[in-house]
Amino acid sequence: MVDRLQRPVRDLRISVTDRCNFRCRYCMPQEVFGPGFAFLPRAELLSFEEITRIARAFARHGVTKLRLTGGEPLLRRDLPDLIRMLVAIEGIVDVALTTNGSLLAARAAELAAAGLHRVSVSLDALDDPTFAAMNGVSVKVARVLAGIDAAAAAGLAPVKVNMVVQRGVNEHALLPMAACFRERGHTLRFIEYMDVGSTNAWQLEEVVPAAEIRDRIHARWPLEPVDAAYPGEVAARYRYRDGAGEIGLITSVTQPFCGSCSRARLSADGRLYTCLFTAVGHDLRGPLRAGVDDDELDAQISRIWRARTDRYSEQRASGQGHHAKVEMSYIGG
Ligand code: SAM
Ligand code: SF4
Ligand code: SF4
Repeated sequence: MVDRLQRPVRDLRISVTDRCNFRCRYCMPQEVFGPGFAFLPRAELLSFEEITRIARAFARHGVTKLRLTGGEPLLRRDLPDLIRMLVAIEGIVDVALTTNGSLLAARAAELAAAGLHRVSVSLDALDDPTFAAMNGVSVKVARVLAGIDAAAAAGLAPVKVNMVVQRGVNEHALLPMAACFRERGHTLRFIEYMDVGSTNAWQLEEVVPAAEIRDRIHARWPLEPVDAAYPGEVAARYRYRDGAGEIGLITSVTQPFCGSCSRARLSADGRLYTCLFTAVGHDLRGPLRAGVDDDELDAQISRIWRARTDRYSEQRASGQGHHAKVEMSYIGG
């Protein structure tokens, strides 16, 4: 099954909740996601059985990798149950989790025991003042580092650490972050700040281009490029010439990779999005709750994917990318 631009579907990112215990300024700014914000009511969230049914349908269409995200996925208490259900799906070879790490120290072992393969932990700085300003709730760096250590100890290694880089906000953390994770043996991935959603007041001037990030790291610890591990890998990979592991650069703004984008996204309330930057999702929960059989579910997914033409980041680069977009905390990044 390929879309109109001949792209197959290989990854499904599943948002298990739209809630989060952080208020990162670039994702869920407090002014918008304050006490009065209406999150999804419980009954609107997909159940684990519903998520698993949709994941199975995607596996029949060629998906081999699943990633659980949110909001903060570890706010969903019984997550290990879902992981056990997902790793058992025929054709699924990789189940990963993206988390802010704040609740990971206590839970890494049970996640690993449930069969989770990998985790990516988001961390934007190593000094508490910068991190607190970015996460919006004053969670300390040490708590996330403890989560990373627990994940590695539980065998969820190598842990990937994701850092969103914002001009004038956490640029100064680039070298300290690289030093820290070289030592710990985890892959640090630098993410260009993106214009997701419509609440973070994104401006192009706040993006630190990946090439600049690479040059700054290279000037301190020489780097050399590494070939992509598989077609469609989103991070450009570099290894330290001294053998201290790798970094990744996610160049969504300066070098879009829509041409090989094989990702589908499922929101916590069961809408299917064919691009991180679309405004409109396709409701799969309605049909599921109305009792569709697997053939009809497969056919609906196939119709949606075959009609896909999304290439937002490429259009943004050529100056055409202005339209309403779904929020990142709802769709999961
Ligand atoms: N709460 C979890 C976390 O933070 O890892 C999972 C969901 S979060 C939306 C997924 C990823 O999106 C995180 O690594 C986060 O840093 C990234 N992200 C959020 N807003 C972003 C933005 N405006 N630009 C680039 N990355 C962003
Ligand atoms: Fe929460 Fe993750 Fe968004 Fe930060 S990036 S507000 S941790 S969902
Ligand atoms: Fe994929 Fe859309 Fe991102 Fe392009 S902009 S890489 S199509 S999610």
